[in-house]
Amino acid sequence: MTNGVRKAPKIIAIANQKGGVGKTTTTINLGAALAEKRQRVLLIDLDPQGNASTGLGVEADQRDVTTYDLLAGDAALRDAHQATTVKNLSIVPATIDLSSADIELIDNEKRSFLLRNVLDNSDAAEFDYILIDCPPSLNILTVNAMVAAQSIIVPLQSEFFALEGLSQLILTVRDVRQSANPDLRIEGIALTMYDRRNNLSLQVEDDARENMGDMVFKTVIPRNVRLSEAPSFAIPVLEYDPTSKGSLAYRALAKEVIEKTKKRGTSSHGA
Ligand code: ATP
Ligand code: MG
Repeated sequence: MTNGVRKAPKIIAIANQKGGVGKTTTTINLGAALAEKRQRVLLIDLDPQGNASTGLGVEADQRDVTTYDLLAGDAALRDAHQATTVKNLSIVPATIDLSSADIELIDNEKRSFLLRNVLDNSDAAEFDYILIDCPPSLNILTVNAMVAAQSIIVPLQSEFFALEGLSQLILTVRDVRQSANPDLRIEGIALTMYDRRNNLSLQVEDDARENMGDMVFKTVIPRNVRLSEAPSFAIPVLEYDPTSKGSLAYRALAKEVIEKTKKRGTSSHGA
């Protein structure tokens, strides 16, 4: 960094309208792995289910200021994010309130730009990475994430039907590019819950690499029980079991993400 000018954060939405594919697990653990590599990371919980908030130990009574308040313009980013038990990792938590945002925002002409405006007009520069955990839908919340982000990571569960729905997601990305965010790119597709002993996993991987090429991260995230246990202890797997296969995989993914985003540099909106 020269002349004291701080770089804008790299903003990545973790999105797939399919439920239960590993979006939240990826947001939490990729975030923790980036933080471990001394990146200053902010997670934005954009899912009314609030799983990322719960998984990082933000109890219901600690969610005074939430993503909903941010989008509604009732809170500034600096007042909405809070530290987690993980060094360098902060979060803006979500509550079920966010589920009504979908309806409430419908009359707002700028409804797709709410999150982007918040991040553009804030002290977001204190972070190196902002990861946005999206809900399992291509609704207005996910569109807000895609409009605000520079790129998206798509977790793809290594199971039958995994690739179905991907074309719909890509169409949405195209729409967002045309209407609001021409530079939005797909940072990568992350194969999750991968089981090398299962032919189906291998097949999904082959299909994905054949159709999507370099877009698929080299790192695959194995099915690993430690990953599913960690949230009930309200910590990332990197703290719960630092040498588990899940931890190693998310560290490798973080390395790939850093390399990919570094190569490209930062292209912040309008800057
Ligand atoms: P939703 O669409 O509901 O937001 P999601 O896409 O965020 O779901 P997760 O909550 O991350 O998905 O994962 C779904 C379930 O699978 C969780 O119980 C999680 O603990 C488990 N899980 C995720 N990834 C793995 C993995 N690699 N190995 C084992 N279990 C996993
Ligand atoms: Mg989730």
